[in-house]
Amino acid sequence: MYKVNTDLNKFSYKNIDLANARVIVRTCLNVSVDSNGKVTDATRLYESLPLIKDLALNAQNVILTAHLGRPEQRERKSSFWNVAEMLSQSLRENHIEVILVDDLTNEWIDKMTHNINSSESKKVYLLENIRFFEGEESKDKTERMMFAKKLSMLADYFINDAFADYRESASTYDIATLLPSYLGPVFLKEVEALSMFNNVDILVSVLGGAKLSEKLDALNSLAEISEKVVVGGAMAYTLLKAMGINVGKSLIEEDKLDVAKEVIQKYGDKLVLPVDHVVANEFTEEAARSAYNTSDQSIPEDTIAIDIGWRTIKLFEETIVLGNYVLWNGPMGVFEWDKSSKGTLSIGKAIEKNGPAYKLAGGGDSIAAINKLQLKGFNHISTGGGAMLSFLAYEKFPTLDVIINR
Ligand code: AMP
Repeated sequence: MYKVNTDLNKFSYKNIDLANARVIVRTCLNVSVDSNGKVTDATRLYESLPLIKDLALNAQNVILTAHLGRPEQRERKSSFWNVAEMLSQSLRENHIEVILVDDLTNEWIDKMTHNINSSESKKVYLLENIRFFEGEESKDKTERMMFAKKLSMLADYFINDAFADYRESASTYDIATLLPSYLGPVFLKEVEALSMFNNVDILVSVLGGAKLSEKLDALNSLAEISEKVVVGGAMAYTLLKAMGINVGKSLIEEDKLDVAKEVIQKYGDKLVLPVDHVVANEFTEEAARSAYNTSDQSIPEDTIAIDIGWRTIKLFEETIVLGNYVLWNGPMGVFEWDKSSKGTLSIGKAIEKNGPAYKLAGGGDSIAAINKLQLKGFNHISTGGGAMLSFLAYEKFPTLDVIINR
């Protein structure tokens, strides 16, 4: 688990003398969009707004960088055209203009290097999806650095407010090696909330989702500090198979059976696994409509488990109430289908019902369940599922380290 050994307030962007500053900000605008790039859920944009507004009103110049989805090329679906419009609308009452910058031409860089905003017209420059730019995610470090240098010419300070975008790239990591760098409020709030887990008594961790391999480090690390680790979703079936239990045609990772056995050997007494399942004959929503509850832990030969069963829900609920702290990441089943969303929704409710506990959730599906049920009792909802697990699993968090250990 990551441990903060310094006073993070020293690295808050509030320490910058904004009146004279040109700032470049890595923010999180990775909102949900439809196939045309139209925003369908703007939660992340709204979370980023307070910082953007503060900077736009008080700094000399503001450049925003962010990514949207995982584009392989420039495409409308991953363009910020609609995000820029929404930002513009949100900032209109403050008379702040939002300008979407399509490309980083030398002329534009030159203009920005010499341009200082006049105080009458406040502008925010939003660079197009940063992943459209060559170098941002390049495996070649020199290429990444070259792009970071280009970005750094546009500002005097770098502010990272994108906790969720924790992978090292030019705009999240390399640029912080080139400019005096600070943290934004979203990033700081995440670190503060997750750091609570350095010192917990009676933690129940609830993990779900598709792949054991993706959450293995987090599972190991959480097992060390948890009283119980509840595991649902497809990742549970790799563990069940490793225990010699029949999993039928369920989604498992054959090549992870050995590590699954090690996890069971080491943490078997802490793991709480499904004891029954909702199974379908095929992995389709149509087939899911005739899904049924198994009578025990064994999954019939020709079926696929798509959710945890009712006995498991009860067992998980009984485990969750034991925790003074409860941490949740990942769905208990194929949450996207009505017939197999019950497990995830029930677990969300069960965590909420554990009133006195400190409750933390993260990850798209867990957040979707919380929103669907309008659960209000969580103490912190992390903006980044992968980032949250990475923070809890490892002693390093590169996009933070590069700023506080400079
Ligand atoms: P992750 O991104 O790892 O949190 O996984 C989320 C995905 O896991 C969701 O799209 C779920 O549909 C999927 N998932 C959860 N349980 C199962 C299951 N039993 N079989 C197949 N996929 C599942």
